[in-house]
Amino acid sequence: MKYTGRFAPTPSGRLHFGSLVTALGAYLRARSLNGRFLLRIEDLDTPRCKSEYTASILRDLEILGFDYDEEVKIQSANTKTYEEAIGQLLASHQAFYCTCTRKSLKDHPCRCQHRFVRPDLRYSVRFCPSFTVDCCFEDILSGHVLTGKSTDYLQLKRSDGLIAYNLACVVDDHLDHITEVVRGSDLIAITPQQNALYRALGFAAPDYLHLPLVLNAQGNKLSKQNHATPVLEEMSPLDALLKALRFLGQDTTVFAERDFCCAQVLKLAAAHFDLQRIPVENRKPADQVYEKTAVRCGQK
Ligand code: GLU
Repeated sequence: MKYTGRFAPTPSGRLHFGSLVTALGAYLRARSLNGRFLLRIEDLDTPRCKSEYTASILRDLEILGFDYDEEVKIQSANTKTYEEAIGQLLASHQAFYCTCTRKSLKDHPCRCQHRFVRPDLRYSVRFCPSFTVDCCFEDILSGHVLTGKSTDYLQLKRSDGLIAYNLACVVDDHLDHITEVVRGSDLIAITPQQNALYRALGFAAPDYLHLPLVLNAQGNKLSKQNHATPVLEEMSPLDALLKALRFLGQDTTVFAERDFCCAQVLKLAAAHFDLQRIPVENRKPADQVYEKTAVRCGQK
């Protein structure tokens, strides 16, 4: 199957430097392998996502020279497919209705799997695979990754009716024939649960390549929540690309010779892309257990 990669931003703010690094890493990996590259807007969390952020992300990526092999996919236009996947999991008893609240879960673990939930109550839908979830996966950069155990049941649909990221992401990566998911290391901990969702739905899981995270001065991941500045407000498109290339350890000396436009930088950078140069400092060693995780192991 032809290599197909993607960038899947959540439009809860404008594109910041951390998102640019992820977009660039995913793009260069795909183009360096003569693969396909897709863009998907993950806008299901409607209280956080705004259409003006979607528009600004699309515009910023265009200014930065990115191109895609298919029309941009907008998740909010596809909710029927996610509902169908949830229906499939409910029918195979790999999901259940849950009336727990965040507060009640602090007091006691969810027991809804074994209860009849009255349909007039507000409920969420949670995942309970019929097999034991592996607490590990192979990462192209980090090798064998172990994640910790948790007793949480992954939420597939929220009690306010919104489809959860993990379900939608798995369904779309499957439908879009994504062969390798390149994204930030903050999603390492949830990867085994996503792999379990692929398996429960009868899909083949993609390969994974988690990139180092861009941290702010306080050591936190750059994010819209901690008010990361939009990258194109901080610097020119060309400087942003070169800085992101350097963050990914790539050689930028070739760009000093003459003036390049962003699209030319991307093309040349893809031709010179060297996976081995991506730095390891921000990554944990492969044999270290990731603590913050929602992986539930060995329950069945
Ligand atoms: N939408 C997620 C984010 O912006 C990325 C999900 C993914 O790449 O799997 O953090």
